[in-house]
Amino acid sequence: MSKKIVIVGGVAAGATAAAKARRLDEKAEITIIEKGKYISFANCGLPYYTGGIIEERSKILLHTKKTFSKRFNANVMLETECTGVDRRKKQVICETQAGIVELNYDKLILAPGASMIIPPIEGISDVPFFTMRTVDDADSVKEFIEEKKPETAVIIGGGFIGIETAEAMMHCGIKTTIIEAAPEIMPQFNRVVAQNLREKIENSGITVVCGHFVTKAEENDGKVILSLSNGVSYETDMVFLSTGVRPKIKLAREADLEIAETGGIAVNEKMETSDPDIYAAGDAVEKLNLLTGKKQLLPLAGPANREGRTAGANAVGVEASFPGIIGTSIVGFDGFAAAQTGLTYEQAIAAGFDADYIYTEDADISEYYPGYKFVFMVTVFDKKTKRLLGMSASGKNGVDKRIDTAAVAIQAKMTVEDLQNLEFAYAPQFAAAKDNLNIAGYVAMNKINGNGFLVNPEYYLETASKTDHTLLDVRTVIEYKIGALEGALNVYLNDIRKKIDKIDPSKPVYIYCAVGMRGHQAVRILRQLGYEAYNISGGIEAINRVKKIV
Ligand SMILES: Cc1cc2nc3c(=O)[nH]c(=O)nc-3n(C[C@H](O)[C@H](O)[C@H](O)COP(=O)(O)OP(=O)(O)OC[C@H]3O[C@@H](n4cnc5c(N)ncnc54)[C@H](O)[C@@H]3O)c2cc1C
Repeated sequence: MSKKIVIVGGVAAGATAAAKARRLDEKAEITIIEKGKYISFANCGLPYYTGGIIEERSKILLHTKKTFSKRFNANVMLETECTGVDRRKKQVICETQAGIVELNYDKLILAPGASMIIPPIEGISDVPFFTMRTVDDADSVKEFIEEKKPETAVIIGGGFIGIETAEAMMHCGIKTTIIEAAPEIMPQFNRVVAQNLREKIENSGITVVCGHFVTKAEENDGKVILSLSNGVSYETDMVFLSTGVRPKIKLAREADLEIAETGGIAVNEKMETSDPDIYAAGDAVEKLNLLTGKKQLLPLAGPANREGRTAGANAVGVEASFPGIIGTSIVGFDGFAAAQTGLTYEQAIAAGFDADYIYTEDADISEYYPGYKFVFMVTVFDKKTKRLLGMSASGKNGVDKRIDTAAVAIQAKMTVEDLQNLEFAYAPQFAAAKDNLNIAGYVAMNKINGNGFLVNPEYYLETASKTDHTLLDVRTVIEYKIGALEGALNVYLNDIRKKIDKIDPSKPVYIYCAVGMRGHQAVRILRQLGYEAYNISGGIEAINRVKKIV
């Protein structure tokens, strides 16, 4: 007897589950129920299509009903909503355009995704607003822009989709404002890295308002007026809501499946729900964080695809498991990238690690090769075990490569000591002989073993700067003249030995250079001469960035 597999949701997790099930079982009867008009579309590509970066609409439609049905021999039911699950009868109830249909299943896979969170803004449901979740959403944005030629747009929410939408609007020549209630955009990222991204966005002509939320929305003469908690209001031609998502759990809850405290459907490694004949995958389910050991939500395409694959295999009786996530993500804006893997320092502390962090900033390729760009990195590690816990990075080039490598290192439970000796492909146009990750390993180890006498900019700015000390700038005179920290004494690294009498041995010396490397040389010299010297991690570049926050 062939197995009846029914899948609810036909995009990332659902379509992947169907494809995997079919590859493993040619005889299974596979049915996909999808509420929307499209199966397997590229939701991640929607902002780029809206902004005209992806020109052809067909490129975001990865499959049609016909191509999917043909390739995977699956029954695809579009514009069909699953409205109930009868676990006793092993049936799903669906609303099709022709009426109610009941389908039997042997194994059911729920992949309904997530729904938008509509923030509690007075009047929001009475004003026209756009979202960026479906092909229809993208179509209506494009249509509105073509017909109404809007001049301004306000995006509520400065997360991934808000930022990608802002870039799309910029490409359409629309003056755009992002409003984010948290103190910084991308609140789940390292704050300095998020700040670097915001500055890039602002330098491109987009206004970014952080730390204030929209309290009221009204329509007046074809415009929407948004009032903010700081008393300022914005009049705009277009409003986008991108204020996050929550798991779609209605079907699961009504079927009495276990819903976890995180708000997602509870599943085990096999993606089995509390009913062994029902699997769930994607944004609707909670995931195990492999670093903290705790369950959490993570609405991202990578996990959704891998979970769908796991559910599809198990549904046809081939054992597969999805161990969990560490949280790896990246967002781009006009050629600039900000990315994060694993835990931020604050998350690591909250999870009970004895965490510490360092800042580094190095060129993405050899500095003598034309076109190099700097990658700013924050490396988080456990002081006792030396385990790499997280990395955040921003920059124009090479951010993805370092974050992805760090993601592998974290999953392989590597330490920052291991980072020192990781072997990478090197030629001047691709990398430096000492890769940014090797350097992060050296600096983190110098901090752990004490050889670096490293302090973080936050410590210097908040604590050490208020004590009696010498602030020593070991860069060249020209660099110093271009911009130094207030009160800093300039003794160039190469001259330290001969100008040592300029540095007061009775006071602690806090050293900085551009990014920390020359500061390290200087601290080693001064320490061996008996000075109480410290090197400020990440140099003036990191100090200036952190200064804007502390
Ligand atoms: C604009 C945008 C950009 C994104 N960019 C990125 C990115 O760059 N990187 C990244 O990692 N992630 C990104 N994501 C997130 C990623 O797309 C999601 O994490 C992923 O699609 C989740 O997969 P899923 O299968 O769980 O849900 P979805 O892909 O949302 O699919 C769920 C489907 O189920 C259908 N459905 C729901 N309920 C029912 C029902 N009762 N009956 C029938 N059908 C139903 C829905 O219509 C929907 O089509 C982006 C998302 C969006 C919207």
